[in-house]
Amino acid sequence: MAGLSASVVLDRELLELVSSLVCLLRDGKVVFLNNAGVRMLGLSSAEEAQDEPFESFVVEDYRFLMEAGWELLAEEEFLPLKLSRADGQVFEAELRVRQPPSSSDIFLVEGRDISKFVKSAEALREREERLQGVLASVAEGIVTINDSGRIESANPAAERMFGFSRGKLVGREMVELLPESARERHNRFFDAYMSGLFPTLMGRQVEGLGLRQDGSSFPMEISVSELRHGRHRLFTAILRDISERKEAEDRIRRLAHHDTLTGLPNRNLLNDRMNHALARVKRHGGHLAVLYVDLDKFKPINDSLGHEAGDWVLRDVADRLLGCVRSSDTVSRVGGDEFVVVVEEIGRPTEAALVAKKIIDALEQPIDFQGHPCQVGASIGVALFPQDGNTIEEVSKAADLAMYRVKHSGRNGYCFYSDTDARVMSAGAEIDLD
Ligand code: GH3
Ligand code: MG
Repeated sequence: MAGLSASVVLDRELLELVSSLVCLLRDGKVVFLNNAGVRMLGLSSAEEAQDEPFESFVVEDYRFLMEAGWELLAEEEFLPLKLSRADGQVFEAELRVRQPPSSSDIFLVEGRDISKFVKSAEALREREERLQGVLASVAEGIVTINDSGRIESANPAAERMFGFSRGKLVGREMVELLPESARERHNRFFDAYMSGLFPTLMGRQVEGLGLRQDGSSFPMEISVSELRHGRHRLFTAILRDISERKEAEDRIRRLAHHDTLTGLPNRNLLNDRMNHALARVKRHGGHLAVLYVDLDKFKPINDSLGHEAGDWVLRDVADRLLGCVRSSDTVSRVGGDEFVVVVEEIGRPTEAALVAKKIIDALEQPIDFQGHPCQVGASIGVALFPQDGNTIEEVSKAADLAMYRVKHSGRNGYCFYSDTDARVMSAGAEIDLD
């Protein structure tokens, strides 16, 4: 302490009680260093530091700070820098420089080793960055929602999913991401959950619709879990756009139930529809008609104009058949040029004959394929429930047999299973429906 200005009143013993480094500088050189400072700098005694310029303990990259002058440093609240111990080890430190009011060349330096804080702050930042990296790379949308239903955070996938730009989801209400039709239900569930009902919703996956910013909607899968954050409740929703999966499922379902060439129901769906129709007729009475339709002279179209022409004709026939029935009836393709038409709510058997005649008339106009007129006719066998069978199989078989009768009687006509003669149409002929 020798040479210290009398105006600087310091109690050396008091300074030894402090756990931080305390150092007095005159002209930038150490005139006093407490024991905590000796330990922090890895010195064997305070004498080792005596008269040393303080910057000799500062890592070279930070020495420029001292060049600015200690007066300037004294104006800073804290000074984060790196110090070097006697053994060369570097540590993070925070200095506080003050000038005693009565002196012009003396500075008091306090120093704290903040390596541990820096390390844990770095670790925290690293963890945060890693978490952000994971959140940014996952395909699922992840949003956190507070207990009043407002979005507190959203990862990039969630923003993309709903068509929002970076940061634009935060602060919005979760219901804004749902179509109008789903909002009331969501609010009801949310309120019920908040009041202690429906706790089972948590963690379960539910399917619903999401609303994009452009107003379009898409199917999504949501699973919500709850985080307790002190007294607050925070919800994490994981959102998945399942449009592609739904489309694939629809495609598979369609493939399983529809004919790929014409889009008409295939035999699987036909059986299903027939069973339902039969159940309805059994319940409410009336008749059900099954019409087996096999095109006449279809093969020659394939043979002369190619398979492509045949396909074209089959698609056109499908459209024409659909035009002959009500939307509640079923037109299906069950084989190459074989179609089955199921007509429901038949009051009198003659109504089935009317449909058969309509079909024959509908095929009267040739089908144009790239300028080539393609003419087909139809042989139609008609069977009825309950007259011609008790089960779908029996009625179908009866209709098939009736169709063969038409084929053998000259084609292009229809015949009821119970008829002894097929009504074979010649072009323009009228049939007696009574
Ligand atoms: P008929 O008057 O006796 O009914 O004879 P048809 O010429 O209509 O021929 P038939 O009913 O005996 O056979 C149907 C043909 O349809 C046999 C097959 O080559 C053809 N075919 C089956 N499936 C398809 C298909 O998906 N596309 C095309 N273009 N032709 C098909
Ligand atoms: Mg045929």
